[in-house]
Amino acid sequence: MGNTKFIFVTGGVTSSLGKGIISASLAKLLQARGFRVTIQKFDPYINIDPGTLNPYEHGECFVTDDGAETDLDLGHYERFLGTPTSQANNVTTGRIYNHVITEERKGSYLGKTVQVIPHITDEIKRRMILLGENGDFDVVITEIGGCVGDIESLPFVEAVRQLRWDLGAHQTLVIHLTLVPYLKAAGELKTKPTQHSVKQLSEAGVQPDILVCRSERTLPQDIRRKIANFCNVNLNSVIQSLDADSIYDVPLLMQKEELDKRVLAKLKLPASPEPNLKVWKEFLGRLKNPTKEVTIGLVGKYVELRDAYKSIIEAFIHAGAENECKVNLKWIQSDFVTIENVESHLKDLDGVLVAPGFGERGIAGKIDAIRYVRENNIPFFGICLGMQVAVVEFARNVLNLENANTVEVDPDTKHAVIDIMAEQKLITDMGGTMRLGSYPCELQKGTKIYSCYKKQKIDERHRHRYEFNNKYRDQFETHGMKVTGINPETRLVETVELEEHRWFVAAQFHPELKSTVVNPHPLFSGFVKAAIEYVKSKSNVEVKA
Ligand code: GLN
Repeated sequence: MGNTKFIFVTGGVTSSLGKGIISASLAKLLQARGFRVTIQKFDPYINIDPGTLNPYEHGECFVTDDGAETDLDLGHYERFLGTPTSQANNVTTGRIYNHVITEERKGSYLGKTVQVIPHITDEIKRRMILLGENGDFDVVITEIGGCVGDIESLPFVEAVRQLRWDLGAHQTLVIHLTLVPYLKAAGELKTKPTQHSVKQLSEAGVQPDILVCRSERTLPQDIRRKIANFCNVNLNSVIQSLDADSIYDVPLLMQKEELDKRVLAKLKLPASPEPNLKVWKEFLGRLKNPTKEVTIGLVGKYVELRDAYKSIIEAFIHAGAENECKVNLKWIQSDFVTIENVESHLKDLDGVLVAPGFGERGIAGKIDAIRYVRENNIPFFGICLGMQVAVVEFARNVLNLENANTVEVDPDTKHAVIDIMAEQKLITDMGGTMRLGSYPCELQKGTKIYSCYKKQKIDERHRHRYEFNNKYRDQFETHGMKVTGINPETRLVETVELEEHRWFVAAQFHPELKSTVVNPHPLFSGFVKAAIEYVKSKSNVEVKA
């Protein structure tokens, strides 16, 4: 394990304080000083991974290159750091128990009673230090999901307590994220919830080194002092985290509060050079000073919970900044779109994205939306299910294949233009069995998609069971829907586009999962460019009129 340092980030008082963003921001600051950093998330729920969760439960499921279905915080880690995560970066209680129970059945603990302590905690500890084992990282940050005090988090906190002893001083650090609420009626910031939350953590044997206090208001010195006194931390280890305009401001806010310096001092790591955040600041400069504006409709069935589309939202932010363009998203619940009202939903938009998804609900509205943008030459971007529905719409309304469908919606359709993949046919288990992770794709030169990537060989991440049915390929191509990217090994269709359309591009893969601050995704960027061009063309028409 060498000299790898382990930082644990816990949370208290309430969920949704932004542990993931604080972890990613700290990681960014350390990375910008030249340290090799990775972040992992430990989630207390029993599911083996979030792959089987409805997006309404826990937001988007983020897929890694190696095909792990993971928590959406891993998306933040990748977007901030620009380095890929893997299966090892997301561990759940379910995965821990699964391992221990499998070992028990094998006889690995023969003769012994298998218990939470030490067997479960030992396995948690093994996983917590795993990424530090090969000397690949100077710092491993572990975010513990949930709140201290939750019954289900206890084994994780206990593992942290033990690891602090196992690894010795200066090898580990605990950062606790809490809330300092402002009570309007009293006109005061209140420290009691923080005191209680730290007390709870201390009762479990873990004394935090640094407190990051989320607050709507600036923490005055006397409040910081009070927190430091009651919670046994140094005054300069009480870090305020104010609500920010953008999550991408948080690394700079944390730098201003000297979170990185406190961490380095406590871990006895060198505090020079200062972080090099040039590229990050340039990105923020472009993000905050747009010269243009477009409005994109996002048609999906989980739009009530924005977290269900987290990576798409962030990919638009990156692509918008790259184009110095403010991208407004208009959320459109596909359940409510009908052939009668589709025009009122979409007519003023500068582009429409049809989102990924599963199951029949919302499909009809997506078909109507795609027909409208296809016929009205409005920029369109389809992702995964969005591509599949674009294919179904084209089959029905251009190829006149009556009731053409995806077999996900109609297993008995006469025209299965989207079919179940051969290797999926015999699969009955739901967890971790889709076509997952990174696969190569070869793009055809001279196409719109090629002009985005500017290269032929790409790799993108996948999460699906159904595919374009190659039996129909010629028919589609003769009528103008071109297959522009295929998997070179399996011949699976990866991308399609319309020849006679301003910008109608759809992908079976998920480009949003690979967009980062430093490398905005070329397809999102191309789509935003197409929307900007469309806005220009509309205003030209108005001027002429
Ligand atoms: N439900 C479709 C499939 O499984 C699309 C999945 C998705 O949009 N991620 O193929």
